[in-house]
Amino acid sequence: MADPVLDLRGLSKSFGALKATDDVTLTLQRGEIHALIGPNGAGKSTLMGLVSGKIAPDAGQVWLDSADITTLSVARRAKAGLGRSFQVSSLIPDYSALRNVMLALQARQGHSYRFLRPVNRDTPLRDGARAILARVGLGSRASVEAAMLSHGERRLLEIAVALAMDPKCFLLDEPMAGLGSEGTTRLVSFLHVVKHEAPILLIEHDMDAVFRLADRISVLVYGRIIATGAPADIRANPQVRAVYLGEETA
Ligand code: ADP
Ligand code: MG
Repeated sequence: MADPVLDLRGLSKSFGALKATDDVTLTLQRGEIHALIGPNGAGKSTLMGLVSGKIAPDAGQVWLDSADITTLSVARRAKAGLGRSFQVSSLIPDYSALRNVMLALQARQGHSYRFLRPVNRDTPLRDGARAILARVGLGSRASVEAAMLSHGERRLLEIAVALAMDPKCFLLDEPMAGLGSEGTTRLVSFLHVVKHEAPILLIEHDMDAVFRLADRISVLVYGRIIATGAPADIRANPQVRAVYLGEETA
């Protein structure tokens, strides 16, 4: 099998006596959506924090595209190709949706912000940004300031900004939150396409969306992965049903 894009090896993290992440090993392979599910407090956000660099592990490593990024800062990891969409601060509120995406495209091309004025008249950059906005379904909202977008539209714009950075993989923490059913349906079909460009590690509470979207699901309970498999296997796993889906066992 090809090397995984993202490779989490034996990650552990305690808060005092509490093991929030307990020896977690998982991979994100090319072309896949790998969803993390688990009850509240299972350690999903902590694990995402370990991957994004917000939290330092007590043990274990994070490898991206065969490079050990465990000690890199959040910003260096982003530069190394870790795309995240739950970074509201990545949006500039009084810039239009289009300009937010243009900035991200420009950053990827390595220009500095002081060249923004000429870049503003840069037609290829503008066209590239428009194409990305259209892909996330915000084509008609290009000229609207980020601050004036709805909550759901801002989530889509964050994804557009992440996409503009041409990441090696995506970390998406509850991308469906606040989207409504139409927005969720649109995002689900969009993510089905995007995963072929950059695989997606996904935390999502909408179980319908998870089971429609994920190629593999890992179930976290008390910081440990108790099962990893295809959605059908996870659905049928008695241990998962008992501890997570709340079913009675004989
Ligand atoms: P989830 O996202 O699955 O709901 P979290 O990763 O947020 O779970 O939390 C896992 C456990 O770690 C919980 O018991 C939570 O209270 C605890 N926890 C998370 N962050 C901290 C922190 N900064 N300090 C102390 N305990 C924390
Ligand atoms: Mg959480």
